[in-house]
Order: sequence, then structure tokens, then C-alpha cells
Amino acid sequence: MENKKIPVGVLGATGSVGQKFIQLLEGHPYFEVTELAASERSAGKLYKDAVNWILSTPIPENVANKTVKECKPNLDVKVVFSGLDSSVAGEVETEFAKKGYTVISNSKNHRTDSDVPLLVPEINADHLELIKSQKYNGGAIVTNPNCSTIGLVLALKPLIDNFGIEAVNVVTMQALSGAGYPGVSSLDIIDNVIPFIGGEESKLESEPQKIFGKYSGGIIEHLGIKISAQCNRVQVIDGHTECVQVKFKNKPTIEQIKKAWAEFKGEPQKYNLPFAPIQPLHYFEEDRYPQPRIHRNIDKGMATSIGRLRECPLFDYKFVILSHNTNRGAAGGALLCGELMKAKGLI
Ligand code: NAP
Repeated sequence: MENKKIPVGVLGATGSVGQKFIQLLEGHPYFEVTELAASERSAGKLYKDAVNWILSTPIPENVANKTVKECKPNLDVKVVFSGLDSSVAGEVETEFAKKGYTVISNSKNHRTDSDVPLLVPEINADHLELIKSQKYNGGAIVTNPNCSTIGLVLALKPLIDNFGIEAVNVVTMQALSGAGYPGVSSLDIIDNVIPFIGGEESKLESEPQKIFGKYSGGIIEHLGIKISAQCNRVQVIDGHTECVQVKFKNKPTIEQIKKAWAEFKGEPQKYNLPFAPIQPLHYFEEDRYPQPRIHRNIDKGMATSIGRLRECPLFDYKFVILSHNTNRGAAGGALLCGELMKAKGLI
């Protein structure tokens, strides 16, 4: 039978996000990993020898014995998913796009480019129009947001649409896997909380403005809500928890907020995409939920869990959210972007 899957490459295939791409792409109905690329340190080695595999499922057989290549735009695919270190991602991704590749990236480097979508498929699928104005000779770059941004914007989107939001305060408790491997030293994090993650707070304050921005006349008009973020690293392996306070334009009731969350759906659900959560937002009535160990894998690790919605004496309401940082917040989120692009005939 003819194989109709789209061959794809993974840039940064040996890293934490790269491994997650390879794990999630195993048996994927649209895409098949045929090319792997990483740094000069890994190039020329079999993948199984180059990678320090840290995931709980085995390395997929069709990938283990492939030879890792350098991140040069001579791979035999048209689409690459990128989990490259941000020190090189900007330049390498530009080179690939200029040679006609479609690059779907987790790295921060191109997120703020005015012609690059910062895509959350449930929220701003229309921003994909931007790639028509990119100057890459038929190539394209699409990015997905920071791992903490993604859970926050999914929870806020139906609230913005239904009631309008003036201001948001968010305090994160972020998992260790967000720092890559080997990440934070055990002597730094055991019995401890680190109240600083470099560059994270500014991403959380700025990325939602672009994601919620209005696409008009070939540009994105950023939204301009006030967001204040404080980010902490905690001893959790996967799953970012965020305590959120919201001031509304038109203050809704608690029941109206829960209804808006329950009814929220977007294009991934409409197209029934393979990595789309069936229900993007899950609200828990139990006071002790959501918890990373219990809820991070809901709906393939692609859904956002929410709980503890209550009145706030400073803002209008406060609540807690939880989102899987390497599934929804990295490789799974980028994969969903790729699936949406395929559904829309863009790859
Ligand atoms: P990582 O584990 O350090 O992996 C980095 C990858 O980049 C490795 O495959 C590495 O290859 C490759 N690389 C490094 N230097 C290179 C060079 N000079 N040329 C070509 N390849 C090079 O990092 P990560 O945690 O997976 O993160 C990857 C990117 O995703 C980062 O930009 C990060 O900010 C972003 N991100 C991460 C998360 C998360 O939860 N971890 C979430 C969202 C976004 P070698 O193995 O050969 O060195």
C-alpha cells in the first residue's frame, strides 16, 4: 500500500524536546520521521548512540538506527520540527526556511518576528495567514509559545471573548523538564524552590499580547492587556502549575466562567486533529485539584486543567491552572500546529 505520510525531520533531535517529538511522532497518522539532525557532537552517529534517551517508552525502532545529520538545509524532507537550542535556533531555522523548508519551532528566536505566527491552534489559527507574507522562497517559519504561556492563554481565551479582560497576575510553579536535560542541578532544587527562571517572566507577559492579537491587513495588532508574571522552578518533573488572578471588563458570575471554559473549542477540535485534546479545558470542583502528578497527562497531555475558581479581594477572580510543559507546552503543541497546517493545505 502507498505510504501517504508526510516525511519530516527533527532538528535538535537529541534534546529533551527533540526526544519528545520522536516519541509523539511514533505511529503518527500524518507524519513520519525520516531525518534527524543535531549538533556536530551527534552528527555521524546512530541516533541510539548519540542520544541520552530519558523518556519512559523505548526509542522507536525506525529511528534508533538512523544516522544523525548536521543541521544543514540538505535534509530529504520539506517539513522540519525544531527543538534546537536557542543559541543556534534563530540562524539555523532561517537557513532552512530560505531553502524552502517549512519550520515548526519550539524555540523563542522567531516568536516575536512580525511575520511569524505564534500559533495556538485553538486560539489564533487565522494568524497562519502571516506565512503568505514571509520572504522565504516558499519556505515558512511557524512558532509555538513558551511552555507557561500556553496553559495561561488557553484558560484566558474564552474569558476574553465572553467578558473582556483588563489585567492578569500570574505566579508559576514550573517543572524541571522545562529546563531541558540535565537542567537544574539536584543540589540546587532538592528541598528547594528557585524564584527565578531567566527570560521567562517577560515571555509570559508579552507572548499572550501577540497570540490574542487581531490579524488585519497582513499584520497582528497586539492586544494590550496588563499582565504581571512571577516564575518559580519547583521539584516537579513535568507539568507547570500557575496561580492566576483576573480583572474583567465585564465581571461575570462564577457559573458563567465555568460555562465559558466548558464550551471552549477551536479549529483542532473541528478538524478532529490527532493531537487535539477532545476538550481543551477541564474544570475540577475538588479544592485540592489540579495537581501535576495526577492531571498532567489528561487528553494526551494536551488539555489544560483548571480548579479553585473563587472571588479575589484584589482582582475579580482567582484560579489555578495546570498544563503539561513538554507535551502541550513544547513538542505536542508544535505537532498540533503541523496537523492544523496539514488540515488547511499549508503543508
Ligand atoms: P536541550 O535538551 O538542551 O536540546 C538542545 C538540542 O539542540 C540538542 O539536540 C542539541 O544537539 C542541539 N544543539 C545544541 N547546539 C547545537 C548546534 N550548535 N548546532 C545544532 N544543534 C545544536 O534543550 P530542550 O529542553 O530540548 O529545548 C530545546 C528548545 O526548545 C529550546 O530553545 C527551549 O527553550 C525550547 N523549549 C523547551 C521546552 C521544555 O519543556 N524543555 C518547552 C518549550 C520550549 P546535541 O545533543 O548534539 O548537543
